[in-house]
Amino acid sequence: MIYLDHAASTFPYVEVIRLFNEAFANNYANPSAAHRLGMNEELRIKEAKRTLADLLSCEVSELTFTSGATESANAAIKGYLLANRHSGTQVLVSAGEHPAVRITAKHICEKLGLELKIIPLTRAGVVDLDALEGMLNPHVALVCVMAINNETGAINDLSKIARLIKQRAAQAKLCVDYVQALAKQTITLRQSAVDLGIFSGHKIHAPKGVGLLYVKKGVRIEPLLHGGGHQLGMRAGTENSQMAEAFTLATRLGIEHMQENTSNVMQLRQTFLDALEPSTYVDNSANTCSPWILNVSFPGVRGETLLHALADKEVYISQASSCHSKAPYSDVLQAMQLPVELMQSAVRISFDASQSNDEIKEAARLMNETVKLLKR
Ligand code: PLP
Repeated sequence: MIYLDHAASTFPYVEVIRLFNEAFANNYANPSAAHRLGMNEELRIKEAKRTLADLLSCEVSELTFTSGATESANAAIKGYLLANRHSGTQVLVSAGEHPAVRITAKHICEKLGLELKIIPLTRAGVVDLDALEGMLNPHVALVCVMAINNETGAINDLSKIARLIKQRAAQAKLCVDYVQALAKQTITLRQSAVDLGIFSGHKIHAPKGVGLLYVKKGVRIEPLLHGGGHQLGMRAGTENSQMAEAFTLATRLGIEHMQENTSNVMQLRQTFLDALEPSTYVDNSANTCSPWILNVSFPGVRGETLLHALADKEVYISQASSCHSKAPYSDVLQAMQLPVELMQSAVRISFDASQSNDEIKEAARLMNETVKLLKR
C-alpha cells in the first residue's frame, strides 16, 4: 500500500508508540492526586509543556493541551469572543479556513450577533492582502487565518497579515491555525503578533485526540470546559500525561528533523510530478506552496472516481480535505475561483519524509495508468 494522505492523518512515530504504550500501562495515577504517583504525573505534564514552550518559543502558561485542533479552534474563537464582548462587532475569517475555524466562527457570530466577513483568497490560494487591508477597521474583534492551507499547501504571509492588522485594526486579535505548519515551518510565537494558536497531534505522527492551544499572555478567553480548574482553569478535565508526552515527543522529533524532512519531501514531490504524464494534469498548488501538499486536477476524470479507483490499487489519496468529502466541490478551490472542470477533477496528494523515491514513482505510475483507464 502507498499512503499519500498525510495531511489528513499520519502514522505514529515508533518512538511515540513506544513511549505512549509504556506510559499508558504504567502512568495511570491522576495528575491532580496529592500522593507521589499523582505528583509524578503532574511533573510529566509540566515537563512536556516546558519542552513545547521551548520548541515554539513561548511561555509554559500560554499553552493548554486539548483533544485536537477542532477543540483548540472552538476554545480560541468562542473563548475570545465570549470573554471580550465589547472588543468589536466584526470577525474576519479567511475563505481558506478549515471548518473547525470557519464553522465555529459562524456559529459564535450568529449567537453573539457579530458580523462574520470572509476574506477572499487569491488564485494562488493565499489570503488576498489588498482585500484584507480594505476589510480591516476599528470594529474588527478577531481575524482568523491559517499558516498553511490543508488542501493546497498555500502558505500565508503571517508577518504581512499581522502588520496590516496592526496598522488598520490595532485592537483586533489574530488567531492562527498552525495545524499543517507544525514541524514544517519555524514557529516562534514570542516574536510573533499571533494571539491565539491552534495545533493538532495526529498530523505530526502523534495520536488522534490530542492538540494544543496557545493563548498569548494578557489575552483573556472564557474556557469551554468548566470543572476542576485543571490547566490554570483553561480546560477542566483530568489531564492526560500520555497524550501530552506523545504530542511533545512527536513535535520535538518533527522539529529536530524539519530541515532534512523538508528537503526529502521536496524531492519526493518533484519525483512525483516528473513521473506524472504531463498532458493529463494541472497543478493547482502555487510554486511557493508547502512541499508536503500537492493539489492536482486530472481534467476529464472526477476526483472522487480517481480516489476510489486508486484505493482499489491500495494507493490512498484525498479528494480535498477529508472533512469536505460530501460537498460537490471544495470551498477552498471555489474561493480560488478555479474553473468547475478543475474543481471536479481535483485530488490532494500529501507526502511524508519517510517515503522512498521508488514508492512515489510507483504511485505516479499507478495514477497515470488509472487516469488513462478512467478516460476511456
Ligand atoms: N485545521 C486544519 C488546517 C486541518 O487540516 C485540520 C484537520 O484536518 C483541523 C484544523 C482539525 O484538526 P483535528 O482533527 O485535530 O480536530
